[in-house]
Amino acid sequence: MRGIIFLGEKQLELREFPEPIPSSSEVIVEMHASGLCGSDLRPYRTPKIEAGDPTQLKAAGHEPCGQIKEIGSEVHYLKVGDRVIVHHYLGCGYCKWCLAGYSQLCIDPNAKKLYYGRTNHGGHADRIAVNENACVLMPEHLSYEEGAACACGTGTAYDAIRRLAVSGRDTFAIYGQGPVGLSATLFGVATGARVLVVEPVAYRRELAKSLGCEVAINPLETNPVEAIKELTHGEGADATFDCTGIPEPRNNTIKSARIFGRACFVGEGGQTSFDISRDIIHKQLTIYGSWTMSTIDLAEVSNYVVDHKLPLSRIITHRFPLERADEAYRIFESGQTGKVMIVWP
Ligand SMILES: [Zn+2]
Ligand SMILES: [Zn+2]
Repeated sequence: MRGIIFLGEKQLELREFPEPIPSSSEVIVEMHASGLCGSDLRPYRTPKIEAGDPTQLKAAGHEPCGQIKEIGSEVHYLKVGDRVIVHHYLGCGYCKWCLAGYSQLCIDPNAKKLYYGRTNHGGHADRIAVNENACVLMPEHLSYEEGAACACGTGTAYDAIRRLAVSGRDTFAIYGQGPVGLSATLFGVATGARVLVVEPVAYRRELAKSLGCEVAINPLETNPVEAIKELTHGEGADATFDCTGIPEPRNNTIKSARIFGRACFVGEGGQTSFDISRDIIHKQLTIYGSWTMSTIDLAEVSNYVVDHKLPLSRIITHRFPLERADEAYRIFESGQTGKVMIVWP
């Protein structure tokens, strides 16, 4: 089978790997869609020296979605032909967080933790072996592309918005309109909230507007904190959400929340400093960190998309076959896209 590996410094290689053979607890997933996520840009850009031994690298991609082609001897729940989303982590399977579906939070120090797309082959491959416990069955009317989006970006937005308890009473401000931010716009609009977005790329602002956000602020032209206050009687938004991971928007996420407001962070990496007294304590803020989602939430977000007829496919703007992954990453990195997918015919 073929797989894409990240060599570092934006170099990809389409490599031939041996056909995967399932262990007793694994299934072979034939890939149909594999999303590009903002966090893939870190290993994509990493210096070659930090990319790892190129002979040992695994196929990238942590949003795998496809169909089961083969099952191991001890697999009883899943069967050949099932359509599944891969939750891209595996823990011990028995600690309380694994049992709660949060295998990424596994607390067993002796467990060998797997990350599909890093320690094991991920979605940018024709077929991969996956533990059956990492597979989530898809609802009938969810497309493979939508399933791949749910596997990280869209599922992350869903869980964060649930933490924030965004409702129709809220003005909800979102920093960043990449795949997570665009998904948050969709969910925010679906709850009836008034959605304001902050995004420097015109293409993404236009896409957000077409999904129903009320105002799309360009932070390169307008101070977003002042703009959000102006739109909220000087108070600030009820709920704010950072999908950028960049210090300035992170600070603005705090600053544009109202007194007794809620703020959530999902954008990863780096460090940011906050004025704790002025911007957090004295504003009585509630702050959430949210890291992807559990297998249970992954099943829930998949059903939500179908049941609420969420137009999730509209955020998927670019599709490429595996052999053009290089092009897919180049355009995704430019920011001139919504969600980008590797797809199989
Ligand atoms: Zn565990
Ligand atoms: Zn991700």
